[in-house]
This record gives sequence, C-alpha cells and structure tokens, in this order.
Amino acid sequence: MEKLIIHKESCKSCRYCIENCPKGALYIKGDINEKGYPYVSVDHEKCTTCGICYNVCPDYVFEIQEREV
Ligand code: SF4
Ligand code: SF4
Repeated sequence: MEKLIIHKESCKSCRYCIENCPKGALYIKGDINEKGYPYVSVDHEKCTTCGICYNVCPDYVFEIQEREV
C-alpha cells in the first residue's frame, strides 16, 4: 500500500494539482504555511496514489511512500 505525503511548507497555492487530480482528492482548507500560502491537503479516502499531482506540482510538494502495515 502507498500513501500520499504532502510537504505543506513547499506549497505555493498554484492549484495545478487540484485541477489535475482525477479523484477530486485535493483541496485547500485555508490554513497558511510558513511562506504565507494556503496549502493543499488530501482526502486519503479518495486518493488512489496515481501520482498525477506528484508529476504536475512545480514545487515538489508531494511524495508517495509505502504505507506501514
Ligand atoms: S495521487 Fe492521484 S488521486 Fe491522489 S491526490 Fe494525487 S492526483 Fe489525486
Ligand atoms: S501544484 Fe504543488 S504548489 Fe501548486 S497548489 Fe498543488 S501542492 Fe501546492
């Protein structure tokens, strides 16, 4: 099993990932990171770890990790 990890401090709130996620799993709640941007969060129930957000994010916010069992 894999899990999507979000390095929220790198997010610049450009929304490319939200526009490209086929599952509608990404959203911006409104909480602000250290750089002053409202950062992206993921709904793990919807995410299939397809990797599209990982590929489109210009700021390397996403990482796909093996989930511990
Ligand atoms: S890995 Fe795929 S399903 Fe999960 S948030 Fe990213 S684009 Fe959406
Ligand atoms: S594509 Fe990357 S920088 Fe842009 S909103 Fe998504 S996580 Fe943030």
